[in-house]
Amino acid sequence: MPRPVPAVDAPELAGYWEGVARQVLQVPQCPSCHALRWPPRGACPVCGVVEFGWAPVPAAGTLHSYAVVNRAFHPAFAGEIPYTLCVTEVAPGVRFLGRLVGVADRDIELGMPVTAEFADAGGARLVYWRPTQPGG
Ligand SMILES: [Zn+2]
Repeated sequence: MPRPVPAVDAPELAGYWEGVARQVLQVPQCPSCHALRWPPRGACPVCGVVEFGWAPVPAAGTLHSYAVVNRAFHPAFAGEIPYTLCVTEVAPGVRFLGRLVGVADRDIELGMPVTAEFADAGGARLVYWRPTQPGG
């Protein structure tokens, strides 16, 4: 069973995936008031401008939330359970959903520092989150 991969050609996410290919996280940014617009939306939530550019954001942040998955939602992931999904905040209000790796469930703490890790899987480059190593 092939692993489902994200739709990397969706226009509103093209800049995000282009950045991930270069191991950079970037999100839409308003050219007028410079507010970050993540997740992507049709207009700036601050000033209403429709146009946008792309701005890099830190590839590290803090663990905002997580869930341990014990039942595969797709047969391709059946061999990987249990695994942990997480929400990482890298800037105020900028949160990414992803996979948390490299930590036992009992050692997970909300607010712990995590760092993005880029890995190729199933034909796409994905972002995983791993607890930040001391000094890293
Ligand atoms: Zn704006």
